[in-house]
Amino acid sequence: MASDWSKFSAATQMVHGGTLRSQFGETSEAMYLTQGFVYDSAEAAEARFKGEEDGFIYSRYANPTNEMFEQRMCLLEGAEAARSTASGMAAVASALLCQVRAGDHVVAARALFGSCRWIVETLMPQYGVETTLIDGTDPTAWEQAVRKNTKVLFFESPTNPTLEVVDIQHVVGVARSVGAKVVIDNVFATPIYQKPMELGVDIVVYSTTKHIDGQGRCLGGVVLASEEWIDENLHDYYRHTGPAMSPFNAWVMLKGLETLPLRVKSQTATASKAADFLAERSEVKRVIYPGRPDHPQANVIPKQMKGGSTLVCLELKGGKKEAFAFSNALKVVKISNNLGDAKSLITHPATTTHKNLTPEARAELGISDGTLRLSIGLEDEADLLNDLDAALSATR
Ligand SMILES: *Cc1c(COP(=O)(O)O)cnc(C)c1O
Repeated sequence: MASDWSKFSAATQMVHGGTLRSQFGETSEAMYLTQGFVYDSAEAAEARFKGEEDGFIYSRYANPTNEMFEQRMCLLEGAEAARSTASGMAAVASALLCQVRAGDHVVAARALFGSCRWIVETLMPQYGVETTLIDGTDPTAWEQAVRKNTKVLFFESPTNPTLEVVDIQHVVGVARSVGAKVVIDNVFATPIYQKPMELGVDIVVYSTTKHIDGQGRCLGGVVLASEEWIDENLHDYYRHTGPAMSPFNAWVMLKGLETLPLRVKSQTATASKAADFLAERSEVKRVIYPGRPDHPQANVIPKQMKGGSTLVCLELKGGKKEAFAFSNALKVVKISNNLGDAKSLITHPATTTHKNLTPEARAELGISDGTLRLSIGLEDEADLLNDLDAALSATR
């Protein structure tokens, strides 16, 4: 049995929490690459299917490696229960779809990761769920959007790619007033810097593809909530629709958690230096970084975030030409649409992650042709700042 690590701090929990040791007493967590499990007798199989006996049945339902990862995530998040999924999108889709019915209403902040926005804007209405997209940073917009049949309030904070911040406690208050549940996509904040459940959020989802793997290897996701909510909403949905994470990927994520606090701290320290460095440069129109006094929601951040971000949003003077010249001139920083990796990565949202939005919809989100998203990795700080410096000079 896993020991109770709940009284320890996160760094300790991420090394030891949730470990299930086999009869061999291995130090590192075992990887259980198995589809199914065998039973000692037909009676034992019957008892397990009836739920009278504890144990695993089939890896679409649960697996020991996945369970170790889920338990470690529960410790980090302060959640009662979790389900690991094949990707971040499988987590988001499961968390939203398992709890709504035709005729329900969902309110979401429009600054969503592209695929999340598609689920809200396009998929849910196909099944008779009405949805309203709002400016999540405007507190009154939440109050005005909710109705009697509002079932779920959904948002990201900080947002992708402009790192704007939604007042979590305010959204929780609005949800309570109509009996709706709050779902947060906490990827950008990471579980190190933001604990949504302490602020009253009901369901937290992650793409573990990002900081939790942290080395760009596997896709994954996780949904965390109360035991009651999982039992009543997600349990059957998860078993029968099959978004389960591969045990191999669960093992990678489990090992990723061991170094998550160290990596996020180091990446944030460098990102904060990079943000200040970029903000002083004449080629840069504006920098958005949680922790800088000029952040648009600087007053909300201390209420809900314990640290800054491993990401920096910058807008170059000019537009696409300058943004491309800058990206192409970078040597250490690689061009990619991913984030949270050990490798520093730069993204031009207008032509990649947000290319499906109209120019007007991009403008609403604060994305211009000069906007770039920089994900800081684990490289040496001086090497990175020199790389940014040289690439900025190349845009002139
Ligand atoms: C990457 C990401 C997702 C989707 O995760 P995948 O693992 O790519 O499916 C969802 N939300 C946010 C905020 C993300 O950054």
